[in-house]
Amino acid sequence: MTATPVRTCIGCRERRPKLALVRLVRDADGVVTVDTRHRAPGRGAYVCATTECVERAVKGGRLTHALRKPCRVAPDVTIAVLQRDSASTALSSGNRADRGSRDEPERSPDPARR
Ligand SMILES: [Zn+2]
Repeated sequence: MTATPVRTCIGCRERRPKLALVRLVRDADGVVTVDTRHRAPGRGAYVCATTECVERAVKGGRLTHALRKPCRVAPDVTIAVLQRDSASTALSSGNRADRGSRDEPERSPDPARR
């Protein structure tokens, strides 16, 4: 078994595999953005790729605490996090068996039964 790096989400405080989290970094201007390529230098903070965790992280001042410096959050960080999530799931799940929607609601018994 390879050791999976684990990080704590600063939104919900749960420990998760690093790859399941989104890395937030603070750039030179003090603006926090999503490190989409996992390559930005400096101190990062991790959150789940959910609106809830991002907002909690942002609003509670936890980001500032985690990064140990005053920072502002870019207005579209939440969106960027969610986009990153959809992109990564598309990549990681090798099988794209998403088009097999076979159960069509063919039989509609009686439309207006009220
Ligand atoms: Zn979380």
